[in-house]
Amino acid sequence: FKNYQPITGLEDFMYQNTTLLPLKGVNGSIDQVCLIIYDVTDVAVNRRQLQAANAELQRLSSTDRLTGLYNRGHWEEMLRLDYARHRRYDSQAALVMFDIDHFKNTNDTFGHLAGDYILANLGRLAHGMLRAEDVFARYGGEEFAIILNDSTVEDARIVAERIRQLAQRLVVEHEGESINFTVSLGLAQFCSAFKGPLAWLECADKALYDAKESGRNQYRVYDTSQR
Ligand code: GH3
Ligand code: MG
Ligand code: MG
Repeated sequence: FKNYQPITGLEDFMYQNTTLLPLKGVNGSIDQVCLIIYDVTDVAVNRRQLQAANAELQRLSSTDRLTGLYNRGHWEEMLRLDYARHRRYDSQAALVMFDIDHFKNTNDTFGHLAGDYILANLGRLAHGMLRAEDVFARYGGEEFAIILNDSTVEDARIVAERIRQLAQRLVVEHEGESINFTVSLGLAQFCSAFKGPLAWLECADKALYDAKESGRNQYRVYDTSQR
């Protein structure tokens, strides 16, 4: 046999395709077997690299670069799926939208890089307060969104108040400056009367608007019984 590829590179194992052929003798009996082994390590390695590249592409297309959180597109996709599930099983869930107060002033005062640093820190710390089943995203600009799956409106109130306090207490140090800020939040409980996931989102957004109108640094709950 010619040995075309004696070394399998960086792999721990040689990947093989194997063929077993029974060999008939002249009297018709089989007392030998031919074993052909193909070294397909390069094919296997290429396939694995392609799978890893696809997984990385998938991750990049669903995350926000600055915060590492899900981006809006991916979050809305999750919202669509979770909404369908809650509708089917009539389970409890809530949406929380929150937005940094007067963030334009913060940027104007401390610079855009300081603003970016605040977004990254707030995203990371708020993420640390959530459960694995909660779906958290940077919805856009200085706005964040959470799907609280299998949570009552009371649970959502607790989460919202925790995030409000987190932001209020957080002092972000950037280039010698100590920066304080607050957030406003809007909550909407899942309700089977919604026309679709975007109607649910719109309710959380209305509650957020209400929190801003009422003076900021607070959360407001959308009254689902109005529907
Ligand atoms: P409000 O309390 O009503 O939310 O006031 P606001 O100033 O936060 O709201 P407004 O919508 O007027 O401004 C949002 C600001 O957020 C303006 C924009 O420069 C800033 N912003 C959005 N995305 C980013 C970002 O990625 N990085 C930084 N540094 N700033 C951002
Ligand atoms: Mg804002
Ligand atoms: Mg905003």
